[in-house]
Amino acid sequence: MIGPVVVTNGNLNRNDTRGKTITCKAAVAYGPGEPFVVERVLVHPPQKMEVRIKILFTTICHTDLSSWQGKNEAQRAYPRIFGHEACGIAESVGEGVNDMKEGDLVVPIFNGECGDCKYCKCEKTNMCERFGVDPMKKVMASDGATRFSTTDGKPIFHFLNTSTFTEYTVVDSACVVKIDVDGHGDLNPYIKKLTLVVAYQREINKAFDHFTVGKSLRCLLHF
Ligand SMILES: [Zn+2]
Ligand SMILES: [Zn+2]
Repeated sequence: MIGPVVVTNGNLNRNDTRGKTITCKAAVAYGPGEPFVVERVLVHPPQKMEVRIKILFTTICHTDLSSWQGKNEAQRAYPRIFGHEACGIAESVGEGVNDMKEGDLVVPIFNGECGDCKYCKCEKTNMCERFGVDPMKKVMASDGATRFSTTDGKPIFHFLNTSTFTEYTVVDSACVVKIDVDGHGDLNPYIKKLTLVVAYQREINKAFDHFTVGKSLRCLLHF
């Protein structure tokens, strides 16, 4: 899957990267509690129903820290790219992705929604059985492979459907939300606020799991 490789050098033109493997910087964890190594990694093109995202902002959360420390041995997987709260721009989309396009402002979501399972169809929950939060998951759903690798070709595992401690990531389209922004002004203040709000998404959802609420209220609280 490696094919042609493009090396990042600041802002890439999407016409240069679409369908190609991107080489960019990422913070890679090689073992429990070991310092992150900021190094060049390969990010392969998105496959069917996947999106490759240029990450603009990301935050760190206690879930990243506990997973990096490998407190739960069953969840350990290294090398790995952590990070699950971020926002970015869709760099390219895989076959079959119709609800977003290159250049869209997007937020990767660790609690994705396939739209078809009984939980997605239920008005009172969004804990999707296919793309819901799963700390054991480390590869892509479609083929069990990774979209990251070291420059010498060894796989780097994904984290919580997202993996955002990298300049580019690949996620299932079920785990991406497109953000509609009016006008074309400076997006940065909006994006920074959005990233902080997303950081609270899990805690808000957790709280609401104890109550009976409709999905529309949940969505309002996300953003
Ligand atoms: Zn978090
Ligand atoms: Zn679902």
